[in-house]
Amino acid sequence: MLEQLKKLLRLANISDKGAILLGENFAIDGPAQRLVRVVTHIHADHIIGLENSIRYSAFILATPLTHDLLKAMGYRIPPSKELRLEVGSKIKIGNEMLVFHKANHIPGSVQVEVEADEYCVGYTSDFKLPGTYIMRDLDVLVIDATYGYEEWNRPWQEEIEELLVDIVIDGLVRGPVHIFGYHGKLQEVMILLRERGLDVPFIAPKRVYDMARVLIGYGYNLDPVLLENTREANEVMKDNWYVFFEHTSRSTRVKCHNCTRILLTGWEFKEPFRKVDRNTWIVSFSDHADFRQLVEYVKEAHPKLLIVDRFRGGNAASYFAEYVRRKLGIPALALPTT
Ligand SMILES: [Zn+2]
Repeated sequence: MLEQLKKLLRLANISDKGAILLGENFAIDGPAQRLVRVVTHIHADHIIGLENSIRYSAFILATPLTHDLLKAMGYRIPPSKELRLEVGSKIKIGNEMLVFHKANHIPGSVQVEVEADEYCVGYTSDFKLPGTYIMRDLDVLVIDATYGYEEWNRPWQEEIEELLVDIVIDGLVRGPVHIFGYHGKLQEVMILLRERGLDVPFIAPKRVYDMARVLIGYGYNLDPVLLENTREANEVMKDNWYVFFEHTSRSTRVKCHNCTRILLTGWEFKEPFRKVDRNTWIVSFSDHADFRQLVEYVKEAHPKLLIVDRFRGGNAASYFAEYVRRKLGIPALALPTT
C-alpha cells in the first residue's frame, strides 16, 4: 500500500512553492525545474513564480486567451517559449500527452490532464459546477478546494447571477453602479450583464480595461467599455448611467454619491446578498466550487488517489481530504504537508 502510494506521488505532487507537479515534464501554476510551466488561469495564486519559470522552463503553456491576458498584465514571454493550446486540445511532450479540459472559472481557465502508457493524472485548478468537465478514473487527481469546510456552501450559487443582474438594474434606475471584485471575476460579470441584454456603458481603470479589450478581441461582446479619465468616459459619466468596474483593493478608497456599490465576495455563506449601508451591497458571487460541488466532482471523478491543494486551500484542504477518505472511501491527502 505504501509502495503504491509512493509510486502515485511520483506521478503527481505539490511542491512547497505551490507548483503542481504532474508526470515528468510539467510544473503547473507554480515554479519548478520542469521542461514545461503550465498556467491554468491568470489569478495571482496560479501565476506564482512565473518570472522564474520564464527564465528556466523551456516552454510556458496556456490557452491563447490566458497568454494574451498575461501580456495585458505586463508579462513578457519570449515567443520561442510561448506554447498556446486550446481547450479540448492535446499536445505531446516526450512520452506524455497533455490535454486541456474545460473549466468553468474565469475566461481562459483550464484543467490539465497528463497521460502516458502507464498512468493518467490530472489537476482541476479552480472551477465551479456546472460547466466543468469531470476527469474520471485517474490514477491521481489534484484538486483545488478553496471552500473545503462543510459549512462553506452557497445554496444560491446557481441563482446568484440573476440576483446580481437584478441589483445592477435596480441600481441603474437611481444612478451609476460601481462593482468591485477580483480580476477575472470582474470580466465574468461584464460578460454576464451583456448576456442579459444590458447595454449600459462600462467604465474601467487601465488594468481592468486592458483585460476587457483582450476578451473583446476573442469575440466577447462587451463594448462599450471605456477607459476611465478619458474624454469619452468623462462624457458618459455626466449622464450618470454607467457601470464602473474596479478591483476589490479600491473598494474602501472609492466613494461615490448617489451610486450603488456592489462588493463581490466568495466568502459569504449566510445569504446571497445583503445591504451593508445606504448604497452598498455585498453579493455572494464566487468563481469557485462550494463544498457540495467539490464533493460532487470527487464522487464522479473517483480517482485512485486524491491530492487536495493545501498550498492554496490551507486547513480547509486538510479537512476536505479527511472528509473524502471518511465519507467517500477514496484515499486522499492534503499537500504540501509543511
Ligand atoms: Zn482562480
